[in-house]
Amino acid sequence: MNRRDFIEKTIKTVTTASLFVNTSTAEQIENKPTSWKIPPGTKVPTKRLGKTDIITPILIMGCCQNLDPVYDRRLHRAYELGVNHLDTAQMYAEGQSHKTIAPFIKQIGDRKKLIIASKVHQTENNATPEKFIENINTSLEELETDYLDIFYMHIVKHERFLDKEFIDMGEKLKKEGKIRYFGFSAHHGNAHELMMKASKLGGGIDVIMFKYSFREMGKDNLNKAIDACKEAGIGLVAIKTLGSIPDDGEELLLWTSRNFTKIQAKLKAVWEDERIDGIASQMGNIQHVHENAYAAITPMKLTELEKNELKNIAESTQHLYCAGCNHLCESGMSEHLYVQDVWRCMLYAKGYGDERWARYCYKDIEPYVEKLPLNKLQTAMNQCPYHIDIPGLFNSAKKILGKY
Ligand code: SF4
Repeated sequence: MNRRDFIEKTIKTVTTASLFVNTSTAEQIENKPTSWKIPPGTKVPTKRLGKTDIITPILIMGCCQNLDPVYDRRLHRAYELGVNHLDTAQMYAEGQSHKTIAPFIKQIGDRKKLIIASKVHQTENNATPEKFIENINTSLEELETDYLDIFYMHIVKHERFLDKEFIDMGEKLKKEGKIRYFGFSAHHGNAHELMMKASKLGGGIDVIMFKYSFREMGKDNLNKAIDACKEAGIGLVAIKTLGSIPDDGEELLLWTSRNFTKIQAKLKAVWEDERIDGIASQMGNIQHVHENAYAAITPMKLTELEKNELKNIAESTQHLYCAGCNHLCESGMSEHLYVQDVWRCMLYAKGYGDERWARYCYKDIEPYVEKLPLNKLQTAMNQCPYHIDIPGLFNSAKKILGKY
């Protein structure tokens, strides 16, 4: 079960949108299944990705979920709607993502009609260009393709990944024809620093994927970094755009829109920032594909009321959303506490209802988390400006995701 199914099962307040079909208030009250009818032939709008020659749909298919290796209806329906950009990673679907995308590439029958982006993660202490190259070769074999349109260094936290040796690696891979464009994904609170540095390199980084949602908007340092990347011609893909939390608290807050579901409004908020070239979004079933595609296609904009309600959600649930600014809660400490990593695992488990994936991600940090003393976690909580319950979070993670 994914995040949306999880919510749909527990919440009885679905609102509907109606660009092409009128949906009555009575239907909303009765909470009938929502459908977003999109006229045949209508496609998701496209944008040029930075200064690359990639024309990307503004909605990109996130491929973290398990796909049907025989015939994946979601991928095909999304493709019909113009979503021909697939974003995967070596670690997605517990390492099976590439192999399950390969049949889809064959079914489309023309590799050039697809934009395939993939990612490889390495920790900062052990990363080398050679290891990345080895993993890219494996990725190409698994995907049964000769090249990636975009290769991202995945979950980059450290500025070391912008050193010459890695930038040179990207250039070498481009020259060899293994990748067309090169970049990195940034999930943590220092994304703005990495983006700013990348914008000043004078080339080498073509695309950056970064965490950006209604919760991050208005952050001055991030806005400056986005502007700098735009100025440098770096393509910008937003991820984690729903700003989800590992708690149901958000679902109890007011959402009155009759134009958009809350999910659609969150996507719209990001698309309305013209600096963003695309959103990579995981879509668990055909209905999610339609819900997202509809939001991408409709020319309707968010109203002030909808924007204010999103703002209210962000403010009211700030104490449940770890922003990844670990320099604040870890201030004065010699070790890294992995708060955001633990929080993200709990998001997968409790927010998305996907304990299997949460455990898969948690196992790498578990040895460190187990050793952290309670007093450190309490100090960190006291230093967190948003008062995240760090001891409670770690305790839940140990219970739910620990060795079992
Ligand atoms: S716990 Fe608080 S200070 Fe630490 S990373 Fe999360 S939001 Fe930032």
